[in-house]
Amino acid sequence: MDKKHWHRRTNAVQAGIGSDPAYHAVMPPLYMSSTFAIDGIGHKPAYEYSRTRNPTRDDLAQALAELEGGVGACVTSSGMAALTLLLHLLGPEDLLVAPYDCYGRSYRLLCALAEKKHFRLQFADQYSPEGIAAMFEETPKMILIESPSNPVMRIADIGLIAEKASACGAWTVVDNTFLSPMLQNPLKLGADMVFHSTTKFLNGHSDIVGGCVVAGTKEILTDLEFWANSLGVIGAPFDSYMTLRGMRTLELRVHRAQENAGIIAAQLEAHPSVRKVYYPGLASHTGHEIAAKQQEGFGAMLSFELEGGIEAVDRFVRALSVFRLAQSLGGTESLVNHPATMTHVSMGPEARAKAGVTDELLRLSVGVEHIDDLRQDLEAALQAAS
Ligand code: PLP
Repeated sequence: MDKKHWHRRTNAVQAGIGSDPAYHAVMPPLYMSSTFAIDGIGHKPAYEYSRTRNPTRDDLAQALAELEGGVGACVTSSGMAALTLLLHLLGPEDLLVAPYDCYGRSYRLLCALAEKKHFRLQFADQYSPEGIAAMFEETPKMILIESPSNPVMRIADIGLIAEKASACGAWTVVDNTFLSPMLQNPLKLGADMVFHSTTKFLNGHSDIVGGCVVAGTKEILTDLEFWANSLGVIGAPFDSYMTLRGMRTLELRVHRAQENAGIIAAQLEAHPSVRKVYYPGLASHTGHEIAAKQQEGFGAMLSFELEGGIEAVDRFVRALSVFRLAQSLGGTESLVNHPATMTHVSMGPEARAKAGVTDELLRLSVGVEHIDDLRQDLEAALQAAS
């Protein structure tokens, strides 16, 4: 059976298996070598130097491309390196349209590069018909989408935006970090590129930092590979090996974490100390219908606002024992994040207020622990906060 017709879970479990030509090891070996011997002058082996190509990184790139339905992928040293890589497809006259509420460090990078005239930048509201119309008043070269957005989980209609972008010759690029390829495949919705912080759900064990860009066409892939090699933003073989290993259980982890997140969202929504819950799986969420249409699940990320100001937030966080206050997300363990002072601090107060990142907002990355322990932990912390 052609592996193009496998279920994605099978692709993830089987990634790289049986690729060892030397000893037929079932699990693909880890090639740490930076350099490879060449048979003679003028001979062009498959692998020469690991910045350009490395077998372990290639195994991961192929697995990522299969999961996202792309023609190929570039594996990078972080999610930010993946964004840096794809921004090199733009020139100084090109217009990039990005969401005003994207991940804080993406926001910072976009502003810093635009200031140095690497491209022209427009932040947009990608969630309303007026906002979407404004995105196309001038012809953009690239539209960046983050859906669900970090941290208030706004949902952009990827198919609709990609259709409009393609009609005017613009690329649509989606940051798919929050859902992973198990729950959303932007290329199938019409996007041209997908990128991930593989640090998160794809690796899934909070023990490496990595990223990738998956390309929808050969032309885009060729350009990305040129820039990845030229800039040297490539992922390390060991990190690639770890990510490939983590990806074998991606479906199991994502589904268990998502199940937990759905229960927790309902628990928080019913609690008097909680002002608002942002989870696309709730009928009260503004993006619920679009999420149900374009996603295969609502994911394991959610945010909520506590009543009682920053003091209540502090009491809540201190009372937790299973959820840990930390940066990052998408690991097997549950984490809590305070975006205003952590992930989104670099946005500045004005942009944060516009993006809805209040001081009372907390973001949860729900893990795969037993749901009773997670519920009790949150219930005790809510009591301590009120
Ligand atoms: N995109 C999103 C949505 C993120 O949450 C993050 C990191 O938190 C990144 C990109 C950047 O990834 P990395 O930290 O691997 O550079």
